[in-house]
Amino acid sequence: MTTLQTISQLANQCVLCGICIPHCPTYHIFKSENESPRGRIALFKALAENKITTSQALLSSLDHCLGCRACERVCPSQVNYAQLSHLGRALIASELQSLKQPLSKKLVETLLPSPQLRPWLKLASKSLQPFVMSNHKKAKGNSQKSSNQVTSKKVASKNKQKNVLLFHGCTSELFEYGIIDDIKQLINACGINVITPKKHSCCGAISLRKGDMNKARTQINDNIKQLVNLDDKDLSIIAINNVCSAQLSDYQQFSDIPNAKKFADKIMDAIHFLVVLLKEHPLQFSPMQESIGVGVHISCSLKNALKEELLLFELLENIPKIKLDKINDRFCCGAAGSYRLQYPEIANQLLDIKLDDSKAKQHKLIVSSNFGCSMHFKKGLQRQNIQKVEVLHPISLLARQLIF
Ligand code: SF4
Ligand code: SF4
Repeated sequence: MTTLQTISQLANQCVLCGICIPHCPTYHIFKSENESPRGRIALFKALAENKITTSQALLSSLDHCLGCRACERVCPSQVNYAQLSHLGRALIASELQSLKQPLSKKLVETLLPSPQLRPWLKLASKSLQPFVMSNHKKAKGNSQKSSNQVTSKKVASKNKQKNVLLFHGCTSELFEYGIIDDIKQLINACGINVITPKKHSCCGAISLRKGDMNKARTQINDNIKQLVNLDDKDLSIIAINNVCSAQLSDYQQFSDIPNAKKFADKIMDAIHFLVVLLKEHPLQFSPMQESIGVGVHISCSLKNALKEELLLFELLENIPKIKLDKINDRFCCGAAGSYRLQYPEIANQLLDIKLDDSKAKQHKLIVSSNFGCSMHFKKGLQRQNIQKVEVLHPISLLARQLIF
């Protein structure tokens, strides 16, 4: 089947019921059918069947989609909107390229997934690191001991039977300082060794959003070939960023790529992995200060793609006296990869729904398991001049409270 036929076939599953429409953030903002899932599906179908010609307005409506997959979660006909949108974006990629895009979008999309450029970005980000790290260490010092008291080697010697491979993503080292140490610390404390590959390719999410199917397929192939011995039944691959977990799990859709399904079957989001692990190997955590209300941001990849939002609460409830409170999750926060740079007005409008809710509930700490959302929240807090609110990955919060 050709790509055009696949687009038509996927789109034909839509029964036009409109149930998805109130769940779509762009419809909420624009109140236009073209900015809704049903409208976009019809546009992709008409484009694939050559029934309409493209225009900047039409391409903008399609490009405004955040890829949040809220429509997919509620669709009674189970339309695979993500797959349809990836194929549709590949179809229109050449036309989008000819449109003027903000430099910031081009930079993010070009630089982040590039293994060659990542060391340079890392070096640049390190110039900011002392400031951020001092806060991170200060916070850790509150609770217990420094992470190097549990070395990978020491703990691995307790139990050498099980390893996990950590897919850290393109942005973890750049924007979430300490997250890799934090997850290793928790997993090592349960007697499991963490293998961190020196490098891996981007999971492909950014290329797919850009409509660059060839590049995405190369990245998928590289990860499948390089990362893991697929015959090692005991080895799982865990991803720290929800977006990567969702995308790596979706490799099974690329059925023509050898071993794609076998690889996808090994993927587990880090939140899920830790929930299971801590049941088998309970650890001690120090209680939260009662005055700290923790706002839980549910990322779209966790809620709509992985459908594992409850696991985030279950994981954090390992911390005694923690008061968890879900931040308004009606819509996507607007981060959506490079979307917040490409369409800052839409992105900020969506974020403000969440910030207003968090402000009203007086959260002092916001946890988010998606790096892009965390960055968007940090910027939003600055923009609104909201001070003394910390944004943290849930795994870093757990590591901070860990008692040895
Ligand atoms: S809910 Fe599903 S079937 Fe109904 S309009 Fe939306 S995409 Fe189409
Ligand atoms: S993925 Fe999100 S933004 Fe895009 S059409 Fe679906 S609900 Fe709307």
